[in-house]
Amino acid sequence: MTTIAFIGLGNMGGPMAANLVKAGRTVTGFDLSADSCDAAKADGVAIANSAVDAVQGASVIVTMLPAGKHVLAVWNEILPHAAPGSLIIDCSTIDVESAVQAHTLAAKGGIASIDAPVSGGTGGAKAATLTFMAGGSEAAFAAAKPVLEQMGKKIVHCGGAGAGQAAKICNNMILGISMIAVGEAFTLAEKLGLSHQALFDVASTSSGQCWSLTTYCPVPGPVPTSPANNGYKPGFAAALMLKDLKLAQEAAQTSGAATPLGAHAAELYAAFEQAGNGGTDFSGIINYLREQGRK
Ligand code: NAD
Repeated sequence: MTTIAFIGLGNMGGPMAANLVKAGRTVTGFDLSADSCDAAKADGVAIANSAVDAVQGASVIVTMLPAGKHVLAVWNEILPHAAPGSLIIDCSTIDVESAVQAHTLAAKGGIASIDAPVSGGTGGAKAATLTFMAGGSEAAFAAAKPVLEQMGKKIVHCGGAGAGQAAKICNNMILGISMIAVGEAFTLAEKLGLSHQALFDVASTSSGQCWSLTTYCPVPGPVPTSPANNGYKPGFAAALMLKDLKLAQEAAQTSGAATPLGAHAAELYAAFEQAGNGGTDFSGIINYLREQGRK
């Protein structure tokens, strides 16, 4: 059975590596945090002394790290030690330019590569129900798919190098904008004396229907599983939404795309975070919108 090296055993990487172990893989991991290593060890991941040690003898390498600079630093460090013919998969959410650079590094070393960011959060990581959006060659995708299927339930090949990251930030830009739109609609409804349930019953079956409303409703009541019913505990923290909106804005500037609502959504989430809400679920932006209204 393939040995997999897993670098970055944090909130997402830890449970993802654990699912590979559950699926019968031999997994050797590494993280800078001793706590993350201990948690992964308890889940059956063998812990190496360094990232370079972790990739010895591995035919597949997975990285799950905070940002592009970490991914490029780790790939630069480990690729010279990767076995010829091996495959490297980055599941982190990073900027498209760094993702493309990472693919170039791997190609120089003769290693197949895939960018495969995820959606589904820590719950999806634990339950192995993540969605993976992959970018890279057909051959690399075919090699990566059986590994990704052990950590997720929907695996989409979006195109060439960086296409997975592009899909991720475009999707999350829709999400950030639509959550603000739904929050604004409830805020206006409150001022107009319209009940939350009445707006939900109409909009959820009308042209205002969207995921932010019907699955993740930002007011308590209509969707009992949404974080609004749980004090806006994440879920998906506002700081991570802001990170993704900033990545979308970087990509829009580099590519010349006009994304005025994406830009404004990034500004609103930045203000929400600055007000001390980075750890709040992103749907809590409705409370910030309410505060902006005239009393
Ligand atoms: P995290 O901070 O919990 O984990 C990142 C881990 O990387 C940490 O344990 C850190 O110690 C480790 N690390 C950093 N530099 C390292 C290095 N040089 N070598 C080894 N380990 C190193 O973050 P997370 O929530 O697991 O997120 C990881 C990625 O997944 C991010 O890019 C994030 O945007 C993305 N993501 C997160 C979620 C979520 O809900 N948490 C959802 C989708 C995507």
